[in-house]
Amino acid sequence: MERIQKYIARCGVTSRRKAEELVKQGRVRVNGNIIKEIVMVDPQKDIVEVDGKIIKPEENKVYIMLNKPVGYVTTVKDDRGRKTVLDLVNVKERIYPVGRLDYDTSGLLLLTNDGDFAYKLMHPSKEVDKVYIAEIEGIPTQDELEKFRKGLRIEDYITSPAKIDILKIKGKNSIVKIVIHEGKNRQVRKMCEKIGHKVVRLKRIQIGNIKLGDLKLGQWRYLTKEEIDWVK
Ligand code: URA
Repeated sequence: MERIQKYIARCGVTSRRKAEELVKQGRVRVNGNIIKEIVMVDPQKDIVEVDGKIIKPEENKVYIMLNKPVGYVTTVKDDRGRKTVLDLVNVKERIYPVGRLDYDTSGLLLLTNDGDFAYKLMHPSKEVDKVYIAEIEGIPTQDELEKFRKGLRIEDYITSPAKIDILKIKGKNSIVKIVIHEGKNRQVRKMCEKIGHKVVRLKRIQIGNIKLGDLKLGQWRYLTKEEIDWVK
């Protein structure tokens, strides 16, 4: 609960002192009723109007990157009680993840409270490239790599042209770099499996121009102005 004049000031309407005057002048309604004296309001529930216009707190827009570890779900809340990516980020704003990384995937995850920013990054029509490093079982042949690049039938869809290159061989496995702009459920895993190479480990390192860099696992940082501007 919060005093009405403080709430009005927080909404950017005017100062606390002037807000008191607005109340006295009968220009403030709470849940439809004009108030004439200072009351407490619940910012989550009460609807406050000044001069007939609903007011809302100005939310600070925040843009964050997290190096997500394996073992965290990419949701705000998990009904099975598992740890979520929000457990790793400590900010007062109510943020949410942009897109999703699987429970067993690590790497670059963006979080924000700016719906427009999230839309621009995630909408399929924007075709923003996402870059992954995967360890896959075995060593893919040229033929398999070509199939991956051209497009694969996965369940009821065919994947758009993609990039895949072998970076190195690690024992019986390969480390590959993959670039796709789509983001269907477990798409990278399904694509690799389709050409006969199961994913052992998966990490996202880049979304568009935004790179994970040397951010440590489980750590987060605010995006730079350049990174935000690239999206907007
Ligand atoms: N593709 C996957 O299969 N998993 C992810 O977490 C991201 C992309």
